[in-house]
Parts: sequence; structure tokens; C-alpha cells
Amino acid sequence: MADTPAPTDPQAITRVYPAGQLAIEWRQGLCQHSGNCVKANARVFNPRRTPWIETEQATDDELRAAVARCPSGALRIREVG
Ligand code: SF4
Repeated sequence: MADTPAPTDPQAITRVYPAGQLAIEWRQGLCQHSGNCVKANARVFNPRRTPWIETEQATDDELRAAVARCPSGALRIREVG
């Protein structure tokens, strides 16, 4: 699946990656390409892969910890359950 073009509104959610009782939201317009997410967990976050986020590669706590290292707010956790 091709990536969605960058939204005009940087706060717009580009894509949601479900992960059981939670989901990761990604706002492409806010991404500063710091690579913190990749450094935090390269199994989950891999910009060379599609989809670039594979939530099944980590536990919920690992996903939360990696998202917490995003400096821009581009990655956020959505609690589903
Ligand atoms: S940590 Fe956040 S700002 Fe940095 S590359 Fe990942 S999504 Fe983008």
C-alpha cells in the first residue's frame, strides 16, 4: 500500500496502526525525522518498509515506551479498549 500524501493540517492523523487494546497514531506533518522511534525499537519502526510501523513486533509497554520518545507529537498512543 502506498503512503498517504502529507496532509495540509500537520495535526491531521495520517494513519492509525492498531495494536490490540491500543493503537499508534501517526501525524506525518509533525514528523521531524529524528529517528528516535527507530532507535527505540527498530523491529516496530522501519521507514524502509511498508507499512513502516508493525505494532505486532512489540508488547504494549514497549510500544508506549517507543512512542514516548517521539519529540514532536507525530506518534501518539490511542487507548482503544
Ligand atoms: S520519533 Fe517521531 S518525529 Fe522522530 S522520526 Fe519517529 S515519528 Fe518522526
